[in-house]
Formats: sequence, C-alpha cells, structure tokens
Amino acid sequence: MSGRISEHRVLRSFSTGYALYRLEWVDCGKSRCTKCPHGPYWYAYTVIGVVTDGVSTHRLKTHYIGKIFHLLPGDPGEKMPHDPDALDEAFSPA
Ligand SMILES: [Zn+2]
Repeated sequence: MSGRISEHRVLRSFSTGYALYRLEWVDCGKSRCTKCPHGPYWYAYTVIGVVTDGVSTHRLKTHYIGKIFHLLPGDPGEKMPHDPDALDEAFSPA
C-alpha cells in the first residue's frame, strides 16, 4: 500500500463522496508473469488524516474490493447509481 494512486489502467471511476471507486487493470509487477494485466478489479480510495510530529496531513488509503463491486463498509453510497449500468454514465474522464 503505497498510499498513492498508481498508473493502473482505469476502466470506470466514480465517487460517492465517501470514497473514490475505480475499476482497474492491475500489473502485478512480476517479470515472469504472462497474464498481466490482471482483473479488472475494483479498488476504493479514501482520504485519511494523518498526524506526524504534530503536523496534520492527508493520505490516500487504498482498499481492494475485488472483481465483484460492493461499497465499502460505512459508505452510505448516497451518490451511488442504483442501476449498475448507470455507472458508465457516472464515469466522467478527468
Ligand atoms: Zn501479472
């Protein structure tokens, strides 16, 4: 967990306000792997506050979800489209 969003290829992305969810192809980084990229897998990213030596900063926390999408525990999902197909419409390329 590096705490940053890597250069995974992103298929879908949307935010509920609680977390940023992304469907990504994953490169495992093994030189002998012949199956890369893997997935696609869902990941969620949340911003957490970290206090180091009295200095407050923010870091990204990565949560692995897996092939089947579900909201993170604690995410009310207020902005979650009810129709899974609507995820495509929610996806807005940066
Ligand atoms: Zn691989």
